[in-house]
Amino acid sequence: LANRAFHPEDTIVDVSGVKVGGEHLALIAGPCSVESEEQVIEIAKAAKASGANMLRGGAFKPRTSPYAFQGMGLEGLEILVRAKEETGLPIVTELMSAEYLDVFDEKVDLIQIGARNMQNFDLLKQLGNTKRPILLKRGLNATYEEWIMSAEYIMASGNPNVILCERGVRTFESYTRNTLDLQAIPVIKKKSHLPIIVDPSHAGGKWWLVEPMAKASIAAGADGLMIEVHNNPEAALCDGGQSLKPEKYDKLLTEITQIAKVV
Ligand code: PEP
Ligand code: MN
Repeated sequence: LANRAFHPEDTIVDVSGVKVGGEHLALIAGPCSVESEEQVIEIAKAAKASGANMLRGGAFKPRTSPYAFQGMGLEGLEILVRAKEETGLPIVTELMSAEYLDVFDEKVDLIQIGARNMQNFDLLKQLGNTKRPILLKRGLNATYEEWIMSAEYIMASGNPNVILCERGVRTFESYTRNTLDLQAIPVIKKKSHLPIIVDPSHAGGKWWLVEPMAKASIAAGADGLMIEVHNNPEAALCDGGQSLKPEKYDKLLTEITQIAKVV
């Protein structure tokens, strides 16, 4: 179902009125984690003014350590809903357990499946129970074929609305958090008709790598970007070091728009 051979034209996924794929870029911005209503609304307003067309924010966080901040859970989800009411931006947030699928189906515009759950096949199968679009992040060590097969699980279960997200893979390099695989963009476009966006924040793990990698991603044909933006990165509860301040995000989007015109 995900194979380009049986579906030559690009798929365009509609996220509550925002089209992704073809000529349409998904510009997703927001904090790693929802921390408070004031935080999310301030960032959402700034990101929208810069040209973002969706708001991200983790309510359920997959953290390496069980002692690290695990997210605000359902309370965080309610904050995102209020930020959507305030700004009109569709919301993107990660689902870690099928237990919450009904509430996500009701409230979330684009349901994110994180890198760590890319091969949680049981969770993927459950996603056929919603028609909400799914943002499927690439697993930390997943091949293109494995990643596309995970999209296939979702589509085979009855949900054709899948957007892929390259977020860097594990390599021998330890200076950066992961290594951004830019080749994924043209390869996925050759193999599949699904839209593919890039998350340069989790790839590099450093805020100053976000701008060059975001530009390279758009130049390579990506259908959008998911970028962590925080109004006070030094005090962020998660991933502050890779988050852009709203001013930097604003400048980046101006430049991205120029690059997108010539691609
Ligand atoms: C995220 O986007 O918040 C996240 C946890 O990313 P990943 O699953 O790619 O690590
Ligand atoms: Mn993060």
